[in-house]
Amino acid sequence: MTSFSPTCLLVTGGAGFIGSNFGRWVLEHEPNVTVVNLDLLTYAGNVESLEDVEQRFGRHGDGRYAFVRGDIRDLALVRALLSGDGGSPRPEAIVHLAAESHVDRSIMGPGVFVETNVTGTLTLLEACRAELAARPRPFRFLHVSTDEVYGTLGPSDPAFCETTPLAPNSPYSASKAASDLLVRAYGETFDLPAVITRCSNNYGPYQFPEKLIPLMITRALRDEPLPVYGDGMNGENEIPNLAVVRQLLALLGKPESLIRYVTDRPGHDRRYAMDASRLRRTLGWTPRRDFETGLAATVEWYLTHRTWWERVLSEAYRTAAAMYLVER
Ligand code: NAD
Repeated sequence: MTSFSPTCLLVTGGAGFIGSNFGRWVLEHEPNVTVVNLDLLTYAGNVESLEDVEQRFGRHGDGRYAFVRGDIRDLALVRALLSGDGGSPRPEAIVHLAAESHVDRSIMGPGVFVETNVTGTLTLLEACRAELAARPRPFRFLHVSTDEVYGTLGPSDPAFCETTPLAPNSPYSASKAASDLLVRAYGETFDLPAVITRCSNNYGPYQFPEKLIPLMITRALRDEPLPVYGDGMNGENEIPNLAVVRQLLALLGKPESLIRYVTDRPGHDRRYAMDASRLRRTLGWTPRRDFETGLAATVEWYLTHRTWWERVLSEAYRTAAAMYLVER
């Protein structure tokens, strides 16, 4: 695949954890790039994570950022955005992050995971196919998936790599695997220039406090018990959950007596590990910081952004979402 530098990105799920950080990073580092953020603002979408982005880059800033509240399953809307209807710039790439992303929620209700992650991805692919047939141009479809599609590793298994067979264990990872296969099929069948990435667990600012690290930080700061699944030895990036929780408690100056062992999640993957050598070799990627430094910086962020997560926990952040109508 030849390289090119898109000047307009359609980012789906740009009000979520990774999407809000990604959009901010692009706008700060790529002065010629415009970002259109298509997000439905489900419970996981938070426009308060983007207040600074809106101010600096929105229509009262330099005008390179636009937010559209809408559903990736809305074919007409996605087609209108891709074709630049109404004079807006035509995206040259989709960075597809919109998803239902929480494993526990997928166990309680798998249906919406299939709707969003599978049907939603299919709709985006169909919109791309139609748009590129009408207006051919250099294009990329970047599909952000997860290492969880590979299932779980035994204690001495080698790390997952690009050719590891898919073996998802939760409704979440199954829906992501299904969407990956659709993206692959559109590449093979329709020549859609698509790239699939499968990263491991992410952590950092603006992560919804239902995920391990922000959940533990925000509970510890309120001196609430910290629920750890099973024996705590399920791994986040080769570091058992329990070790992560202990590191967090040490950083926060809180006692380990807050830890509570709770019944394990059904189908819980025991160990994940990614072989990133292709990423290092082809893109020259190296991590900028080690896990200890990143975790300390994350704790610091949650300490200094208490209003952000308290408004999430009290659900006050939903009032901001209500101000945005869903576009049709
Ligand atoms: P998130 O749950 O924080 O955000 C998802 C966003 O998608 C939210 O803003 C939500 O409003 C939006 N959304 C949901 N349904 C939508 C729909 N129908 N139309 C438009 N928008 C919709 O997720 P995240 O943690 O930022 O993850 C982003 C992507 O990265 C997901 O595809 C996820 O599977 C993948 N991923 C995440 C991690 C991680 O550790 N967070 C790891 C690997 C892969």
